[in-house]
Amino acid sequence: REVEEKTVAVDKNLYKGVWVYIEQVNGHIRNVSHELLGEGRKLADAMGQELAAVLIGQDVASLTKDVFASGADKIYLVEGTEFKHYSTDGYTITMTDLINTYRPSVILMGATNDGRDLGPRVACRVGTGLTADCTNLGIDEATGLVAWTRPAFGGNIMATILCPDHRPQMGTIRPKVFKRPEQDFSHTGEIIKVASKVKPEDIRTELIEVIQACTASCNLEEAEIIVSGGRGMCKPENFTLIEELANVLGGAVGASRAAVDAGWIPALNQVGQTGKTVGPKVYFACGISGAIQHLAGMSSSDIVIAINKDADAPIFKMADYGIVGDVLEVIPALIAEFKKL
Ligand code: FAD
Repeated sequence: REVEEKTVAVDKNLYKGVWVYIEQVNGHIRNVSHELLGEGRKLADAMGQELAAVLIGQDVASLTKDVFASGADKIYLVEGTEFKHYSTDGYTITMTDLINTYRPSVILMGATNDGRDLGPRVACRVGTGLTADCTNLGIDEATGLVAWTRPAFGGNIMATILCPDHRPQMGTIRPKVFKRPEQDFSHTGEIIKVASKVKPEDIRTELIEVIQACTASCNLEEAEIIVSGGRGMCKPENFTLIEELANVLGGAVGASRAAVDAGWIPALNQVGQTGKTVGPKVYFACGISGAIQHLAGMSSSDIVIAINKDADAPIFKMADYGIVGDVLEVIPALIAEFKKL
């Protein structure tokens, strides 16, 4: 499709409100959408505007209570069989239509596979920009614009980006950089049902099969316990110790980039600046030195437990608990103890 390039700055006064795109998979709202509702609430309050959510799917009206409980004032609800699974075309057409009709000032989306697919396309269609993969949000005091923060130049600087001329101000935000808000199920709001404008021929792809790339053990973003291994695991076979400890604790397996680059574990498991951002209750760093790029992905963990044979390893500076010792001795001892519980 041809996309008309819109170079003329828009009348910004016509655009009002903060929107959060609600990502749901098979009727389950992803955590990142709740995290963004919590952060969207703060932005909306600071701007003196309302917080709205966009909920698209098949038979998803039952999820509206959950969305209101996380702080939305209003929900734009678009339902239809064509939304049974996420499709680039169907969701792009729908989001674009909603934006052109209701004109929000700000749109937040998760920096997930779907959000990364949908966000840039929609931004292009409505003639605005998009700040991708943000790790923080705020309001720029001088201009009142949303200040989007993201790593730039290979992570060497944190750039703060403003969108002065175009609307909406759009961005994708990494999961787990914000805490999920406390929910209030007495909070409710307005539901605006919008008819779908998607025609069957608009959707150019067909979902043939869903193949799970991995089991729960690599669902890092949702995990409450993560056991990560680094170069200090010494060889790939030793990663079975990481997996065993994660299994005993019901947690997920993570890794440093050194372990991924060595081919010991798939890139899906990498934590850090160029991997996943995680925020579990407990994070085990086993044989990981604590490079800044690794910390960028796990420093919002509630409790960090580091195991390293070098007492001066940087990871100990930010760990809540440190064990100075050989991972090949310490991890089996921990597995044996946890098995007794
Ligand atoms: P090392 O730094 O080599 O540390 C190994 C540690 O294991 C050492 O502290 C050592 O004392 C300890 N050790 C060794 N043997 C044992 C043993 N038997 N028992 C106990 N401890 C032992 N890294 C990431 O992790 N994630 C990223 O997303 C990421 N993105 C990057 C992006 C850029 C642009 C760049 C430049 C780098 C990035 N890196 C990333 C790489 C990062 O800089 C580090 O090189 C990497 O994190 C190091 O991994 P490590 O801690 O496993 O290895």
